[in-house]
Amino acid sequence: MSTDQPLIESSSLALLALRCPRCHEGRLFTDPASSLTRFTNMPAQCPVCGQSFEPEPGFYFGAMYVSFGFAVGIFLAVGIALYFLAGDPDTWVYVVVVAALTLVSTPLVFRYSRALMLYLFGGTGYQPDWRLPRARRR
Ligand SMILES: [Zn+2]
Repeated sequence: MSTDQPLIESSSLALLALRCPRCHEGRLFTDPASSLTRFTNMPAQCPVCGQSFEPEPGFYFGAMYVSFGFAVGIFLAVGIALYFLAGDPDTWVYVVVVAALTLVSTPLVFRYSRALMLYLFGGTGYQPDWRLPRARRR
């Protein structure tokens, strides 16, 4: 395998690995998700190919809707799991478990919401030949 080839060919896997949608190499976030004060930090552009990570001002407002979808998914999954696996416990158990899981998953939900937004609406796709001059790209 040549070193010029990206490690990840599939856009779905690159999204899961939180890599740049154009080159699949550059990281979307600068700090680890476990860093509670810096997990939101994104570079302005890809450190590998230079693709802008903020296509327009306010681009990531839409990620709030994606984040809401994740929260509803967590809410439903926890509710159904508690109902069937824990035998429909008291209401406070639902509230505590949902609140705890929502808090713990915040860095991942934030990151994947932004990544989904960028992949779906960022206006760029995978360009394995991004290193070539513009005229020689497919
Ligand atoms: Zn890139």
